[in-house]
Amino acid sequence: MSKSSVAVIAGSQLADYHFGEDHAFGPYRHQAFLDGMDRLGLTSQVEWLDPVQCDLQSLQSFHNDEFIEMVRQRSALGTGFLDNGDTPARKGIFEAALTVVGSVLDLVDKIMDKQFRRGFSPIAGLHHGYRDHCSGFCVFNDCAVAIEHLRRRHHLQKILYVDIDAHHGDGVFYNYDSDSNLFMVDFHEDGRFLYPGTGDTDETGCGSAQGSMMNFPMPIQATDEDFSRLWSEAEVFIRSIEPEFIILQCGADAMKGDPITHLEYSQQSYQLAAESLCRTADEVCDGRMIALGGGGYNMENISLAWPVVVRAML
Ligand SMILES: [Zn+2]
Repeated sequence: MSKSSVAVIAGSQLADYHFGEDHAFGPYRHQAFLDGMDRLGLTSQVEWLDPVQCDLQSLQSFHNDEFIEMVRQRSALGTGFLDNGDTPARKGIFEAALTVVGSVLDLVDKIMDKQFRRGFSPIAGLHHGYRDHCSGFCVFNDCAVAIEHLRRRHHLQKILYVDIDAHHGDGVFYNYDSDSNLFMVDFHEDGRFLYPGTGDTDETGCGSAQGSMMNFPMPIQATDEDFSRLWSEAEVFIRSIEPEFIILQCGADAMKGDPITHLEYSQQSYQLAAESLCRTADEVCDGRMIALGGGGYNMENISLAWPVVVRAML
């Protein structure tokens, strides 16, 4: 075991996953997280890891070849969009997207190898990525590739994915909604008011996987109190699962003041979710858990929410 039990990824190659100054998913998110870590006095308490690029084979475990090739080509050109207009084809975005995924896989490997108990990556949790297309600022879906990696490389089956980003984690949800060993809890702003418009309470999984997914669509202006009340409900479900690994996508865009969503949590909700999941991880899976930054478009909120998650993991 290393000097800290928690590994955190940071570095310019990871910070390079953004869509430019004029885009909500801009270049300052990584630094906002580092500033928040400093402010909470956490910088010296974690082990910092350099970003790593994902190899093609790992990426292909989830994404199809035509899509990967399309991203590579448009990234080389550096013009236009990778989807219908949300996700620009910035020059170098292919390599940056490979770095987002590779860094998460590196965390998973090091946790499975018992070098660390838990890990965090600020620029990750790109939950709107599908096998054959991208959307909502998400090029490659590191959450899904991590799930595939945990199964193929590390032979785990039962995985819990919890997503408290303001947006529904559709790219993960609809890929695994027939998978009875992938458990998912998703808190998000009600789809009637926010992209991608999915994630109703009655969507609980398909076929034999029915009952393995839970959606919590939150009303506009939902607060910490609303979150905490529903989290208790989610917690009962979470504690019944006994997963072998936990993934938390903790998008900071559910905090009050985010420019593109309408929820009003404070960092307390992030702390509540992270502490609760860490307790479960400690009890049932040797503490094994990763947390992925996800969305968040207000820099001050990023600097508050993500360091609180890291602190809970320590
Ligand atoms: Zn989001």
